Amino acid sequence: MMYEMYIGIDDTDSPEGMCTTYISSVIIDQLKYCGYDIEGYPRLIRLNPFARFKTRGNGAVSFKIILDSPSQVENVKKIVLDKVKNLSMMENENTNPGVIFYHGEIVPELKYFALRAIRSIITIKEALDLAHDIGAEIHQFKKGRGIIGSLAAMGCPLEDSTFELLAYRMRDNYGTKRQIDSDSVVKMNEKTYPQTFDNLDGGYMAIEPHTPCPILYGIRGESSEAVLEAHNLVKSLEPIERYCIFETNQHTDMHIQKIEKIQEMEQFGCYQIQGKVKDEPRVIEGGHIFFYLEDDSGEVECAAYEPTKEFRNVVKQLRPGDEVVLYGGIGTHQTLNIEKIEIKKLEPQYEEKNPICDCGKRMKSAGAGKGFKCPKCGSLLRDGSKVLSPLERDLELGFYEVPPSARRHLSKQLVRMDK
Ligand code: ATP
Repeated sequence: MMYEMYIGIDDTDSPEGMCTTYISSVIIDQLKYCGYDIEGYPRLIRLNPFARFKTRGNGAVSFKIILDSPSQVENVKKIVLDKVKNLSMMENENTNPGVIFYHGEIVPELKYFALRAIRSIITIKEALDLAHDIGAEIHQFKKGRGIIGSLAAMGCPLEDSTFELLAYRMRDNYGTKRQIDSDSVVKMNEKTYPQTFDNLDGGYMAIEPHTPCPILYGIRGESSEAVLEAHNLVKSLEPIERYCIFETNQHTDMHIQKIEKIQEMEQFGCYQIQGKVKDEPRVIEGGHIFFYLEDDSGEVECAAYEPTKEFRNVVKQLRPGDEVVLYGGIGTHQTLNIEKIEIKKLEPQYEEKNPICDCGKRMKSAGAGKGFKCPKCGSLLRDGSKVLSPLERDLELGFYEVPPSARRHLSKQLVRMDK
């Protein structure tokens, strides 16, 4: 008799090192070595980007194991729990691993919980209650906050998904400069884009993280075949300990809720909202740009921060009255961090100019309150006033997005918008 079990793992790493995907990959390799089957690909599920205790990208992992008999369950659990215990960054105060074992259906309550974990904030108590209700076995290390992510990773529906191949470094190399042949990444991108994406960002390699974590690089794409082909094209100048392909909700916009009114926005939620630009964008020290978006229900301050680089050139050129659809999330300062923008309509803008003389030349001021004088023919216009002249807009209708370096894991790139 076949026995299926879901396993969810989260909150094992800290800014100083480790990674839940790596621990999962070690566990999966060991389970396979012991002769157990994993169904499909392990899942890397990104949760709410504003969750307070996240280390970096708020990712959690789940996978499904197929066993020949229930008698193997205890051995599987031991392998998983031993690895989580031994590899997690337990000494860090904010590392609170949680592991779930579940033998049952992915019931609607689990899916709903996952969507809430992606779109809002959840308590450990709510996760405990759900685990209890569905009869899932939980293992909490320290505060065990990771059970929130573990349950969500297991329950998350994946109607749209992408793939990421993560290649891991030898342990001795953790913390050192990553050795990847950049020309090979350029060639890989030429050959596989847009089946793979976010490989490069201008001149730099976007596949390479900049933290002391075990990841050498991550290649993202539409299919497992595409990311594997790309991986085979990348030349690593340091040995790769192992790699693992994950199916993921990255780049699906699963965090975005389409709403009709600005008033519906809540802190730590991510939205798609249409409105009008209220004021001229302001650039503040550090290069961050702010403006207000308004509709009949209210207004919200919107931001394109410095890391969004050239995307700010688009935002800077918005003017009052422009109609836009914004995609982004409300962070700690109640400001909408823009991830992408669709410009639907440009409001005509005008500047005040001196009138044109009958001879065709633009007139000059004849002095305060004295009207205008033509510099060519000398004609005077005593009671003339300035005229409105249409301003050229250096902006086109359509979609614009932040560069890969500033992109949220969940954010759908324009290249995937028809998916
Ligand atoms: P990495 O991506 O590098 O593995 P991380 O950014 O995923 O790290 P974690 O160490 O997993 O960060 O910590 C995130 C913690 O927040 C976990 O304990 C997880 O259960 C919890 N969490 C995730 N989503 C939510 C949410 N929506 N509400 C409350 N807590 C959440």
